[in-house]
Amino acid sequence: MEPLQNFEKCCIHSITLKRWSIEEQIDRLANAGVKGITLWRQSVEGKNFADIRERIHKAGLTTVSYCRGGFFPGITPVDRQKSIDENKKIIDEAAALGAPLVVLVCGSLPNQNLIDSRKQIIVGIEQLLPYAEKCGVKLGIEPLHPMYAGDRSAINTLAQSNEICALLNHPFLGVALDVFHVWWEPGLEAQIQECARLKALFAFHVCDWKTEMSDMLNDRGLMGEGCIPIHQIRGWVEAAGFNGFNEVEIFSHRYWNQEPELFLDLILKSYQQHT
Ligand code: ZN
Repeated sequence: MEPLQNFEKCCIHSITLKRWSIEEQIDRLANAGVKGITLWRQSVEGKNFADIRERIHKAGLTTVSYCRGGFFPGITPVDRQKSIDENKKIIDEAAALGAPLVVLVCGSLPNQNLIDSRKQIIVGIEQLLPYAEKCGVKLGIEPLHPMYAGDRSAINTLAQSNEICALLNHPFLGVALDVFHVWWEPGLEAQIQECARLKALFAFHVCDWKTEMSDMLNDRGLMGEGCIPIHQIRGWVEAAGFNGFNEVEIFSHRYWNQEPELFLDLILKSYQQHT
């Protein structure tokens, strides 16, 4: 597999460079030759979506995804309906921004067992799909590492995500695959092939797993700083036919405390050397 020569397939999540306004991020990425951006809800909150969309277009960038929807489980039917309503709003926002995909962090509740949460997630996605299709926005299940099974997602493997995609069998439902969450999964290569066979491999996220992480959420490593065989996994993803963006998604108090210019520089270096 070829090393990455340029940033044509590079996308950066707006949460990663959150110290810059969304406008500044768009300009900086365009200057650096990066071609993709994934928008996080908080970075466009209160903004004029048509203006943001226009600015991204004029800068020659592609909006890859909108983060994030999901959180389907709820103890009562009223709670679950609230989640559906909120997800419809998120889909509307994605459509207004020109984002073709909403990433789903499916949700989990500490006071409800995983079996019930998983059932509710499937029902929630099924309910949402006709609306997503009507709006022209796809949904990507992002399986989350099992360390988040208590409160963020009851969907923890690519195998599980593939099963849901096969069950609901809808062209607007697929998977957002993040190396941080699935690098450890036994049979990952075969599951990537299965995901592609289902035409469900919608997105690919990169960062690294530091074995001595100080925070479960906000201490992700730059590519090359941890133990994930990113190059190998990208090889599997591309061999399966994926030709979309490599999305850099790093939450890190360590890097957020540094100047964003320096952080972007490090991201671009690690993208070329370790992705
Ligand atoms: Zn991700």
